[in-house]
Amino acid sequence: MAPLRTKQKDSKEEHSVLNPRTTSYEFSGPWGTFFIMLVVPIIIYGLYFGCSEETGGCPPNLSLAISSIATIGTQSVDVAGITSKLWGKLWDAEAMLYYLAWYLFCVICWAVLPGEYVEGRPMRNGQVKRYKANAFQTFLLSLALASAYIIQFGPDSFTFVYHKWVGFITASIIMAFIQAGFVYVMSFRPGKLLALGGNTGNHVYDFFIGRELNPSIGSFDIKSFNELRPSLITWAFIDISMACEQAVRRGGWGNVTDSMWIVLIGQIWYIGDALWNEPALFTTMDIISDGFGYMLSVGVLSWIPFTFSVQARYLVFRQRELGHLVSGMILLMHFVGYWIFRESNNEKNEFRNGKNPKNLKFLTTNSGSKLLISGWWGLSRHPNYLGDLLMALSWSLPTGFETPITYFYITYFTILLVHRERRDDDHCAKKYRDDWKKYKALVPYKIVPYVY
Ligand code: NDP
Repeated sequence: MAPLRTKQKDSKEEHSVLNPRTTSYEFSGPWGTFFIMLVVPIIIYGLYFGCSEETGGCPPNLSLAISSIATIGTQSVDVAGITSKLWGKLWDAEAMLYYLAWYLFCVICWAVLPGEYVEGRPMRNGQVKRYKANAFQTFLLSLALASAYIIQFGPDSFTFVYHKWVGFITASIIMAFIQAGFVYVMSFRPGKLLALGGNTGNHVYDFFIGRELNPSIGSFDIKSFNELRPSLITWAFIDISMACEQAVRRGGWGNVTDSMWIVLIGQIWYIGDALWNEPALFTTMDIISDGFGYMLSVGVLSWIPFTFSVQARYLVFRQRELGHLVSGMILLMHFVGYWIFRESNNEKNEFRNGKNPKNLKFLTTNSGSKLLISGWWGLSRHPNYLGDLLMALSWSLPTGFETPITYFYITYFTILLVHRERRDDDHCAKKYRDDWKKYKALVPYKIVPYVY
């Protein structure tokens, strides 16, 4: 028995050396994360009830919204009755079934469609994960199937997402919660590599931030799978459903507004690009350093598809024609943004893969890693964020200026990227120490050259 106890003790010690306790909190600690957990679903539903035909437009008609709440209150005086009425508004069994079928379809595509296996960055335990990269193939297959279905049965056959919007939100939040709970419980099994930021010992905080770095079932990596497939591909199909609803209302595809086309082209281009460049995901902060918890699961499964598509949903009931000049200018903004985003990300990815075709200058650091100091990465420390922000703005402009709600995405995204820049700055300061100070002196701007 004794040798076994020693062995167990050794492996416990190894485990705690590899997985040190997290000693500082982000997001104002457990209370802050608890608050965000409550607020995120409220915002996702709020963007619907605050901007929809059901509540009288965007912003909503207050008397309509109040009378709808009053109905819930007066007809049932007991709390249980009010709760069940509210639940009745949010829950849609058919939407849940569609959602589960769609999720399962994505898993099956991951398993059966061909795809190259790509190696991730070496992890703290010295291991290298291999990811199956077939998200773009999944997108093409689902796009082909959906197009065939819409051509065969007409655009009205694909408007169900518009009509079951709230039910789909609920389905995605339930899925996010179940997944986060599952991976949290599994993270306590022996031999798991934990995220450096998600091992505080506080259940609420760790559940939110993500305790395990790369939860997986066999070779199925839960985090990267969710980040691209049920997240981005769902967003694309939500947009397509909105365009179908507009086509039905305007009497055919030929009458769909230019504003709807711009949002559709811009967002599907962006999604297609992310899926095509799937291997680049494996070098991002999300994959390398963040755990998979409720923050990421609700972010990718609910927040991305249902808040990034508000503009397309708005254009269903507030149809706008922009004309060639304005449409051209907005598309130009989108593609300039895309060019900056793609070029800068390519420069860094090639460099991180040991290539430097443009012969860019770099700083050699004591950590063994090098930092680019010319090209896009000589202009600011996150030129890719600038390109992303320009694209985001180009997807809101087609909705005009009647409501700030369709500018939610660009506003939130600016806050997210500014916060992300700070998190990355902290991360790089720890990794590169004095070299990071040297780098910051050489490249002083954070995101927008000469401005910020
Ligand atoms: P970055 O692509 O900017 O990556 C930051 C990392 O790059 C650093 O931690 C560092 O890692 C490395 N790095 C920093 N400076 C240099 C340099 N000068 N030369 C070489 N390597 C450098 O950040 P993200 O992972 O946050 O973003 C990736 C993309 O995803 C961006 O285009 C962003 O806009 C997009 N994004 C989109 C979101 C959305 O919701 N649509 C959300 C978040 C991001 P190391 O040195 O360890 O390699």
